[in-house]
Amino acid sequence: PGRARSDTEALAHPPPPPPPSRAPKSAGPVKVGAVPNRRLGGVHSEPMATLPGRRARLSSPGTSRLSSEAREELRRRLQGLIEDNRVMIFSKSYCPHSTRVKELFSSLGVEYNILELDQIDDGANVQEVLSEITNQKTVPNIFVNKVHMGGCDRTFQAHQSGLLQKLLQKESTYDYDLIVIGGGSGGLACAQEAAILGKKVMVLDFVVPSPQGTSWGLGGTCVNVGCIPKKLMHQAALLGQALKDSRKFGWEYNQQVKHNWEIMTEAIQNHIGSLNWSYGLSLREKSVAYVNSYGEFVERHKIKATNRKGQETYYTAAKFVIATGARPRYLGIQGDKEYCITSDDLFSLPYCPGKTLVVGASYVALECAGFLAGVGLDVTVMVRSILLRGFDQEMAEKVGSYMEQHGVKFLRKFIPVMVQQLEKGSPGKLKVVAKSTEGPETIEGVYNTVLLAVGREPSTRKIGLEKIGVKISEKSGKILVNDIEQTNVPHVYAVGDVLEGKLELTPVAIQAGKLLARRLFGGHSEKCNYINVPTTVFTPLEYGCCGLSEEKAIEIHKKENLEVYHTLFWPLEWTVAGRDNNTCYAKIICNKVDNNRVIGFHILGPNAGEVTQGFAAAMKCGLTKQLLDGTIGIHPTCGEVFTTLEITKSSGLDITQKGC
Ligand code: FAD
Ligand code: NAP
Repeated sequence: PGRARSDTEALAHPPPPPPPSRAPKSAGPVKVGAVPNRRLGGVHSEPMATLPGRRARLSSPGTSRLSSEAREELRRRLQGLIEDNRVMIFSKSYCPHSTRVKELFSSLGVEYNILELDQIDDGANVQEVLSEITNQKTVPNIFVNKVHMGGCDRTFQAHQSGLLQKLLQKESTYDYDLIVIGGGSGGLACAQEAAILGKKVMVLDFVVPSPQGTSWGLGGTCVNVGCIPKKLMHQAALLGQALKDSRKFGWEYNQQVKHNWEIMTEAIQNHIGSLNWSYGLSLREKSVAYVNSYGEFVERHKIKATNRKGQETYYTAAKFVIATGARPRYLGIQGDKEYCITSDDLFSLPYCPGKTLVVGASYVALECAGFLAGVGLDVTVMVRSILLRGFDQEMAEKVGSYMEQHGVKFLRKFIPVMVQQLEKGSPGKLKVVAKSTEGPETIEGVYNTVLLAVGREPSTRKIGLEKIGVKISEKSGKILVNDIEQTNVPHVYAVGDVLEGKLELTPVAIQAGKLLARRLFGGHSEKCNYINVPTTVFTPLEYGCCGLSEEKAIEIHKKENLEVYHTLFWPLEWTVAGRDNNTCYAKIICNKVDNNRVIGFHILGPNAGEVTQGFAAAMKCGLTKQLLDGTIGIHPTCGEVFTTLEITKSSGLDITQKGC
């Protein structure tokens, strides 16, 4: 008793049977705090990055089934754990030597991270790769401030000689606790939250000018070239409609009504300028260091920041968050980068775009086409396949047909093949040649402006990810993360539009960024929930939705298990104005085998975003048809229609409205 067995014994003897209350197999190390972090009031665990389906399989040491790629990946993960943790113990939960070492660190009041190799699926592989790194086959295998201590005996010897205490005293050598690359919706939310939690944080934000030379200030896409200017231009268009309606409500005015693009754009850009300024101020107030430079990884914990003048500065951090967002895609056809604009240029265009061709048929395309037509321009949308891919197609078609009835032209099943400048000017004249996607037919058209809205490329291919081994999807360029937004390199995380398979929406990026900071530095465990995220397409007739499209609901739950309730409706404001009856539409999709739970919510009508937001909260709470029926409506509103839905789609009954 009292004499420590050599570390080899832990492996030489068969392990005892697991204790009855053995913890479930965990994916990674657990941080154990002998001294809880007082400022944050607790400790948290930081599991090792495990991407779905990427776990190495169990194999016994010596009979390795690891491919060289998997071995390299595992080596990187282990090096990440060693570098990222002051004390890292690779242990086995039943090993008495491991227990002694843990007790030693606890008695010294030192927080340590453990990876219990017997409690993870790929424990044997970990042990094998660890032995390659350290020449030590046994557990415990201990690292202090990145220095390999050895096993139990060596750690106790180091304690007796004072070496361990010296190693523990070494302060972190990183410049920052966290560096966030990208000062948009997700990056700013994450950086500010981390700073509130007491961390030393830096944000880098840099806008590479568009091919047309447009650039902007701090805040990312949403503020500068996305949600904010888009919604304000949509508002400009709605006001035009309201002006027309107003005559019916008794307003008399004599001057000819026309729209002035320059005044609108200047007013919107001034507002954006004030937002850029307030973001900068907010970072200063929270002591977040803001650097207007382009960031790229040069080493695992080091980035190079290059400013507008080409000056390079290097910074290090313990952790990184990539929030570099995305930029508009080009077509790769003759004349596109020279003569076409994208949404990056449109909102600050110093002249009225005139007759415009919008290429693309998703969110950005239809929203821009909608407000351009709404301010009186001649607008054509060139659609490659369908409208609003991924959305409920019945709703998407209704969005399109309303736009068509209100003056937007659609060229369906065509793609541009060439853009040629006919005349210079502001705007000039462009000839567009397009070909059919269904046959040999080609067409030509002349426009003042061609707006490309054919999707967005994540800004991930030029930020040095390959240097530190962060995995991206080869096809999409998006970053692969696990359910805690952690990449395959454990100290590197990502949020927002750069993520593979996640929604590209501002509130999603903000929520993910904020929760990530709280998990990393605040002892929280809440993950970002990407299910039932509501959204609204701000087309002339707005479309709000939450949950599943009808097509997706049928694919997942089968048609026979669903009941769809729907109705057309006529907003009261539209009646006196004499606007389109039987155009606005409400639909819910209910799962009959789950208490008629509402799994899809769709509305086409004015203020669709305002209506959808509240119902999204209800869906989070498990909204059912019965709960909707029991809800008393607010009269007279559009939202109340959902409290009185009676007609099922399957009944085939007429849903047109005969009166108000
Ligand atoms: P971003 O906001 O794009 O921020 C990334 C930042 O990182 C940018 O400033 C970029 O310049 C910078 N950066 C990139 N690389 C580097 C680097 N290497 N170093 C330093 N900085 C770098 N969403 C909604 O919810 N509602 C809407 O109504 C809506 N409308 C939209 C309309 C349009 C026209 C567009 C294009 C998008 C719209 N979106 C909307 C989507 C929304 O804007 C994005 O989902 C959101 O901005 C994503 O935030 P992010 O933090 O991931 O990236
Ligand atoms: P998107 O959803 O990826 O859609 C791209 C569109 O371009 C599709 O219609 C696609 O057609 C078309 N397209 C692609 N390549 C083409 C080609 N070579 N030729 C012709 N057409 C082509 O992209 P997005 O509209 O730019 O939106 C990006 C993201 O921003 C969205 O996912 C959304 O989350 C976000 N956003 C949100 C809002 C909002 O919340 N209101 C508004 C705008 C944007 P196919 O269908 O044939 O592929």
